[in-house]
Parts: sequence; structure tokens; C-alpha cells
Amino acid sequence: MVAFSYMKKIFLFFTMTIFLLSCSEEKFEAKSDNRFLMGTVCIITLYSGETQDIFDGAFSLIEREDMLMSLQKGNSELSQINEQAGIERLQVSDDIFEVIKTSLLYSQMSHGAFDPTIAPLVELWGIGEDFTGSVPDVSSIDSSKDLIDYREIILGDNNLVFLTETGMKIDLGGIAKGYIADKVKEYLISQGVQRGIINLGGNIIVLGSKPKSQPWKIGIQNPFDSRGNHIGIAAVTDKTIVTSGIYERFFYFEGKRYHHILDPETGYPVENDLASVTIIADRSIDADALSTSLFILGVEEGLTLIETIENSEAVFVTKDKNVIYSSGAEVLFDLQHGDFTHITLEKYGSISQQ
Ligand code: ADP
Ligand code: MG
Repeated sequence: MVAFSYMKKIFLFFTMTIFLLSCSEEKFEAKSDNRFLMGTVCIITLYSGETQDIFDGAFSLIEREDMLMSLQKGNSELSQINEQAGIERLQVSDDIFEVIKTSLLYSQMSHGAFDPTIAPLVELWGIGEDFTGSVPDVSSIDSSKDLIDYREIILGDNNLVFLTETGMKIDLGGIAKGYIADKVKEYLISQGVQRGIINLGGNIIVLGSKPKSQPWKIGIQNPFDSRGNHIGIAAVTDKTIVTSGIYERFFYFEGKRYHHILDPETGYPVENDLASVTIIADRSIDADALSTSLFILGVEEGLTLIETIENSEAVFVTKDKNVIYSSGAEVLFDLQHGDFTHITLEKYGSISQQ
């Protein structure tokens, strides 16, 4: 069971393995600020002597976007869409329309593994800020499952959204943080920022490069160790890195572990051999949706999907501590932890058949 206090979360996030450069060759020291928003710790680190106004502007933006897209906040725009399910079409803001539209793209690409209409199950399982629930009974799972079908979200002209059945609900928990991270990046660039790191609860964007055109070095979390312990390092410039894993939010019930990524087909947390999937891509909205999608699809189907998408790479970590890369991941990622073994897809196939 995990129910971290705010302060503990702040501490853990500060110890996250982002290898911040020593700025000796630059005029300014790194400056960091954080807020607890969207149910997680959001940290922004900038390197060129930016004023507090820029940090404040970025955090206000996150707050505003969360007010649109939160499933938990009763007065969010998302809640209004959900309340109108089966009743009426609702005209929504450009932002939420774009996120829902992009969600549907990933629902199609993942053949329904990623499904934003997952909300009834998310609520039934009690996946929220304090995910300390118990296992729902089978009949409740079955009736919630009946409400889940991304094809029943109808998008129209002029940002109209309609959920065809009463009781249907959208949850953007698997994609909104990525979209909001992209918005923060856009805002920072508009303020003249050239280098920095945006970290929205582990949804990371690196802006520009380190001084002297060196890549940023971002640690990929060891799914079996406490936060801040990594299995290796991704060296990236102007990229986003997003991980979905079984270690993020979970609880134990009668000795079994239940995590927060749900299989729309079974109604239960995904049960496969994966511990985490990390995506390295250009846009965080894509990386966020892809990390959740690939986690649900598993190694083989996940690799097939990621290879069709340009400039996107994946690093899969299995519960057996094997690590499988998409075709371009090896040049970006340096596996360093001796307990983990990089294996090919062929090797993975032969192991999983045993
Ligand atoms: P995190 O929120 O920890 O960054 P993810 O990006 O993987 O992790 O998203 C997990 C969240 O996505 C869940 O908390 C839930 O809100 C939502 N979700 C769970 N299962 C699905 C699914 N099958 N399709 C779309 N969203 C999902
Ligand atoms: Mg995600």
C-alpha cells in the first residue's frame, strides 16, 4: 500500500535521478521550483537566471489545464462532459478536445488497449491520489466493463463531444500529463527559455541541451528499487521521456499486488511479464499515451507498434529483469545496472515460449 505524504513525495522527487549539469561554464546556477499539482509533484529546473515569474507562470498553466482535465475535480470540463453522457453534446475547449482526439488515435493504434473511456473502472478500483483500495467484486467489474468503448465517444465539428451511453466517463490520466508538459515547454520557449527540465511526476521533457551542446542525462527508474535508483541513463537533447510501470501506484490485497494500468478487456490491472515501459519521443502527449499503451500491449505487440512511429523509441523492462529495446533505443540508452540484461526480441521470444 502506498499513500505518500506530500513532503515525502517532494523529497523522493528531488532525489530522482536527473543528472543536472554543473553549470560552471555558464553564468547562472540551476534554479528549481516545485508544486504539488495534478496529484503529483511537478518540478521545473531552469538554467539561465530566469525570474520567479516564469516559474509561477508555468505552475499556473499546469493548474489551469488540470482544472479542465481532472476526473477527480467535480467542476472540471471533463466532469461536465461525463455528466452529459447519454444526454447531450457538449462544446469544449480546444485543449481538452485535442487531448480526447489524440487519445482516440492511440485507442485505434493499440486496438483498444489504450481506452480513455476506462474511467468507470478507474473509479471502481479507486485509482486516485490515494490508491489504497480493495479488489471490487466481479459483478461490479463486469458492469463497469460494459461501459468501456472508445468508439462510443463521438467528436463533432466546433469541438463537440458526446458520450453515447449514460454512465460512460472519460479519464485522461494516461495522457493529460504529457499534453500539459508539452504546453509548459511551449510556454517556457515563449518566455525565451532555452534550457531546462520539466518533470511532471516523472513525465519528463528536456528543453534544449546542456551547455556545449552536451545531451542531458536522465536516469530510467529501477522498477524494483526505491525512487531515484536507476537501471541506466538516456542521453537526450530536446526530447521527452515517459515511463509507465507497476511500481508507480499500487496496493496489496491478500498478498497480491494490484497496480493502476487496467486492461479494458478483463477489467483488472494488466497482468503480463512487464515491470515498466519507457518511451523516448519528441512530444510528451505521444510518449505518455504510448507508455501506457505499450505497457498494456506487452513486448511483442508494443514493439510492432512503436516501430511504425517516427522518432519514438521504447525500453521495456520485464519482471525477470530483461531489457528489450526498439530499433533506435540502444544509441540513446546506456544500461548500467548489473542485475539487468539486454536481450534481443528473438531471445525474448524464446524465453517467453518456455
Ligand atoms: P502515470 O499516471 O503513473 O504517469 P500512466 O501514464 O501509465 O501512469 O497512466 C496510468 C493512468 O491512466 C491510470 O492512473 C488511469 O488514470 C489511466 N488508465 C489506466 N488504464 C488505462 C487504459 N487501459 N487506457 C487508458 N488510460 C488508462
Ligand atoms: Mg501514460
